[in-house]
Amino acid sequence: MSELNLILLGPPGAGKGTQADRLRTDFDLPYYATGDILRAAVKQESDLGREARGYMDRGDLVPDELIGKVVVDRIDSDEARDGFVLDGFPRTVGQAEQLSRALEGLDRRLTATLLIEVPDEVVIRRLSGRRVCRDNGHTYHVELDPPKNEGFCDQDGSSLVQREDDKPETVEHRLEVFHEQTSPLVDLYEEEGLLRRFDGTRAPNEVNGHIRATLATLRLEEQL
Ligand SMILES: [Zn+2]
Repeated sequence: MSELNLILLGPPGAGKGTQADRLRTDFDLPYYATGDILRAAVKQESDLGREARGYMDRGDLVPDELIGKVVVDRIDSDEARDGFVLDGFPRTVGQAEQLSRALEGLDRRLTATLLIEVPDEVVIRRLSGRRVCRDNGHTYHVELDPPKNEGFCDQDGSSLVQREDDKPETVEHRLEVFHEQTSPLVDLYEEEGLLRRFDGTRAPNEVNGHIRATLATLRLEEQL
């Protein structure tokens, strides 16, 4: 079986988490979301984890290069032998170059970068309608998935609140940051012929179907 070395790109609210979960079960691939990997490295007290912790303890951002090393360390492991799904890395062109050099060094290469596209206004509607219950974090959507009693959780009766991250002005800012950071990566992977676009306004099942079909084609092409 050929490897599936994948990067997931998409704005907040595009359903990347859902698609990543499906890829993970469909193809048995490990999923590396940058924040999670970093936390895991710190917890395991690996050398890189200790280095990262130093920055965190001082309240500094962990440098791109170090994040890259933590990611590469995971990719170069048994669990990622048949591939991986990266989310949140690379975030810059520099990190993308770091990743491709590292893969080259392992005699591997990227299979594809999957971009889940959702127009800004859809993201804003999806996220700003989201409500979370105070006690257990159950999620609802005022239009798409409303609770039976407005403002209260169906499961535990606690009140529903809007997370700071989901307020429209915060969402708009997150989108600006996303576009600024992501468009150079989109250009890069497009030039390299690795970019595959998916319509994230479709139902998650449909998006998953399109992704699977694309990956099946890529694998066939590789065997020719
Ligand atoms: Zn609840």
